[in-house]
Amino acid sequence: MDAAWAIDWLRRSAAVVAEHRVALSELDRAIGDGDHGENLDRGFTAILAKLDEEAPPTPGAAFKMAAMTLISKVGGAAGPLYGTAFLRAGTAVGDAAALDSALLVAALTAARDGVVARGKAESGDKTMIDAWTPAVDAAAAADRSAPAAVLAAAAEAAEAGAVATDPLIARKGRASYLGERSMGHRDPGAASSALILRAAADAAAA
Ligand code: ADP
Ligand code: MG
Ligand code: MG
Repeated sequence: MDAAWAIDWLRRSAAVVAEHRVALSELDRAIGDGDHGENLDRGFTAILAKLDEEAPPTPGAAFKMAAMTLISKVGGAAGPLYGTAFLRAGTAVGDAAALDSALLVAALTAARDGVVARGKAESGDKTMIDAWTPAVDAAAAADRSAPAAVLAAAAEAAEAGAVATDPLIARKGRASYLGERSMGHRDPGAASSALILRAAADAAAA
C-alpha cells in the first residue's frame, strides 16, 4: 500500500463524505448539533485541494497532510480527533514507501490510540471509538498475507461497530448531554469512521 494508495484513500474518503454529507449531519441533528457532515466535508474538500497542488511522496506524508488539514479546517470535536488519528498514523508508518500488513495494523492501532488519548472515550461510550476499536481488532486478527484483506476486515468491523452504537447511551461529546435520549440513534462519528475505513479498503482493492 504505497503513496498512490494513500492518495486514492483520501480521494475516496472525500467522495464518500461528500456523498453522505447530509446523512451524516442528519445523524448529528438527532443527538448533536447537526454539523458533522458539513464539518468533515469542509475538511476533505480542503484535502482534495492540497492533493491537487502536490502529491505526497509517501503514505506517511499523505496522512500528515490530511491531519494538518483536518485540524485546521474541521473544528468541533471531530476535527482534532480525526486530525490526531491521521497524525499518529503518519508517525507510526514514518517514511516507509509502502505499508505491509504489519504497518497497516500499526497505523490503525496508532490512529485509534490517538483518538482515545485525545477524547478519553472508552468502548461503549457511543463515539467513533466504537467503530475504530473493532476495526483495529479485526485488522490485527486478519490474514496478514494480503494487506487488502487487513483493510477489508477493518472496514467490515467498523461498519458493524457503527451499527452497534444505535442502542447505546452516549457518554462523551455533545450526544452525552441527551443521556438516555441518545438511545436509538447511530453515532455520527462512528458512521463517518466506517465510511472512511471502507474507502481505505476500496482503494486497496482497486
Ligand atoms: P461537534 O460535536 O463538536 O459538533 P462533530 O459533530 O463534527 O463535532 O463530531 C461529533 C462526533 O465526534 C461524535 O459523533 C463522536 O463520534 C465524536 N466524538 C465526540 N466526542 C468524542 C470523544 N471524547 N471521543 C471520541 N469521539 C468523540
Ligand atoms: Mg456536531
Ligand atoms: Mg459542532
